[in-house]
Amino acid sequence: MTPDRSQVSGHSPRWVYAVLAICAAGCAVVTHLPPHAMGTTPTTTRSTVTEQPHYTDYVGVIHIHTVYSDGAGTFEEIARLANAQQLDYVVVTDHNTLQPLRDRKQGWYGTTLVLVGMEISTSGGHYLAMNVTQEIDRSHLTTQQIIDEVNRQGGLGFIAHPFFKKRRWTDWTVTGFTGIEGYNVAHDAIDENRLRLALWTLTAPVEPFYLSILDRPYDPLGKWDAMIAQHGRVVGIGASDAHEVRVLGLKFAPYEIMFRLSRTHVLVASSALTDADVYEALRRGHAYFSIELVADAKGFSFQAEDGHRVLGIMGDEVPLQAGLALTASLPAPGQMTLMKNGHAVGTKTDQHWEIPVSEPGVYRLEVSRHEKPWIFSNPIYVRTAPLLLRQD
Ligand SMILES: [Zn+2]
Ligand SMILES: [Zn+2]
Repeated sequence: MTPDRSQVSGHSPRWVYAVLAICAAGCAVVTHLPPHAMGTTPTTTRSTVTEQPHYTDYVGVIHIHTVYSDGAGTFEEIARLANAQQLDYVVVTDHNTLQPLRDRKQGWYGTTLVLVGMEISTSGGHYLAMNVTQEIDRSHLTTQQIIDEVNRQGGLGFIAHPFFKKRRWTDWTVTGFTGIEGYNVAHDAIDENRLRLALWTLTAPVEPFYLSILDRPYDPLGKWDAMIAQHGRVVGIGASDAHEVRVLGLKFAPYEIMFRLSRTHVLVASSALTDADVYEALRRGHAYFSIELVADAKGFSFQAEDGHRVLGIMGDEVPLQAGLALTASLPAPGQMTLMKNGHAVGTKTDQHWEIPVSEPGVYRLEVSRHEKPWIFSNPIYVRTAPLLLRQD
């Protein structure tokens, strides 16, 4: 699926054409970690705990377009690529259609579970719906009514590319959504790097180009933190928004690269993944998202412990108590930044970190590697007892 580099690197006018096409198509993307605000210096002593239950880390790609709407690839092509990249699941979300579901496109393709959701165009912006079975007549419904209808069907939904200039999310009065895209590859790129996109067409190989434009998604992450403060709990996911634009035999923003740029890992207490497992993990925020062109993220963990037991993982609420600590573990060394209530409060460059916690708050971790954004955890909500909310 890699573009033909001999063609891409040529100075033929065709590349100009293709770049114009890709920009016009409105694809898009990417992101620096915040200045490292430093607070207390946590201790680094590691403790031994027994993980209960045992979670398995399943990696996937969310928000993919196919020939069912404005994407270039078929389900079969996408599944082959997902197999090759060892993706455990993918979520296809074509615009305003569940036709792939009716065509029985959902299911296992080799080692990858392919799920069918849809991206709904609402008056307030694009809304990513999953685990829904009926299309929604959008014409007479408000954004809130569409969110409510997704919930009525037992689905879950995410505010898509909230700061994409062409299709911003504008209705911030809504409630009842599951979460927000903390990172959307396509739209960040198009919004901010058109000139660089043009240069990319002259670049081979393409990986260094994409690494060069990676930057921390400040606006979506800031909004995510603000929404958590407002709503109590909001789940963050990574979105690919892969379309793959094919022009004159060339592939731009190819699935192969887009699938490596933004992934969402779900933590599931089962050794056999099901669609319900993916949805439940996303609903609970038992998930983290990653940019794996930087490095493989599988195996990352961020959890609350009391020195003996695991009290909760990403997405969980845990009571403030004596001996409480947050522990992070990375598959490779990185620069970890602890965010508390939306503010950076500590940083450490290592592969492990144990952070004593003595105050309630919403704690999430961001990790960069070689100064590129790499991993974003969902929060652990440390509550004083009266503030504990329901977990589901
Ligand atoms: Zn969209
Ligand atoms: Zn999309």
